[in-house]
Amino acid sequence: MANIIDGKTISAQIKEELKEKVTAMQAEGRKVTLAVIQVGKDPASSVYVGNKKKACAYIGIHSLSYELEEETTQEELLALIEELNGRKDVNGILVQLPLPPHIDEGKVTEAIRPEKDVDGFHPESVGKLCTGQPGFVSCTPAGIIQLLKRSGIGIAGKECVVIGRSNIVGKPMALLLLRENGTVTIAHSKTKNLKEVTKRADILVVAVGKPKMITKEYVKEGAVVIDVGIHRNAENKLCGDVDYEDVAPICSAITPVPGGVGPMTIAMLMNNCVESADSCFLGGRPV
Ligand code: NDP
Repeated sequence: MANIIDGKTISAQIKEELKEKVTAMQAEGRKVTLAVIQVGKDPASSVYVGNKKKACAYIGIHSLSYELEEETTQEELLALIEELNGRKDVNGILVQLPLPPHIDEGKVTEAIRPEKDVDGFHPESVGKLCTGQPGFVSCTPAGIIQLLKRSGIGIAGKECVVIGRSNIVGKPMALLLLRENGTVTIAHSKTKNLKEVTKRADILVVAVGKPKMITKEYVKEGAVVIDVGIHRNAENKLCGDVDYEDVAPICSAITPVPGGVGPMTIAMLMNNCVESADSCFLGGRPV
């Protein structure tokens, strides 16, 4: 049976380390401030924003909350971002996605100054990741690298397959695995013979967005399986993109859902906030 990669415990460790770091910064008179903007009242977004604020409070990061009306115009949102870009006391800016359809997410992402782009979505942050320069890295893939490293799973020289090529998960995941010297393949909806491709993987990262799609037929015996997916089934229970019961018996290590990748995303967001006020801490930086 596989080792369970415990994202709850590892994320708690990271939060403790960050709390210590922030306490030391505060003793030197330095404060970390994150501005969190939500437009509209999407219930899932409200839960995510609430969890982020809670994590900030725990670590000692000051959070500024902007809850804007659904009808807020793009110009109004861009003006707020511009104001926050210019404020010396604000280290990080986060705009909760998705935004209402009348607002262009690309324009909003690009409006955040790269030095305050704690989500790591700005094209400059992505370009820096691609060229091996210091910059913010998207939190979910950065969290997966921490999960692997802190579980003692080496990446260098391994066959790594990422299913999914989204800008926030699949692509940055592949770049990070490459930076760690993995041999990386990206699979997507047009990939032929997917099972043959995924069966090559020593490390298989699944970000396909389809509940329980990955069964043991896709997995090499002894592989490490990282499940990024989050879904609610008919009984309102959480499940991932991987059929855990089917796959766990044949792999060497696996992340559960919940309690695997999910908690790492917020921990790495907190890490990016601390980095935005103090250069170089955990992930995010080239090896
Ligand atoms: P997207 O829907 O943006 O991307 C899904 C990717 O999977 C696409 O690249 C798509 O290919 C590919 N794909 C879809 N169907 C198939 C198929 N049958 N075979 C092979 N590839 C396929 O999803 P995200 O990257 O945003 O998220 C992926 C999952 O991770 C979701 O379940 C999401 O909820 C979860 N998630 C979890 C987070 C966490 O904190 N734990 C954070 C972010 C996401 P193509 O490009 O060709 O369309």
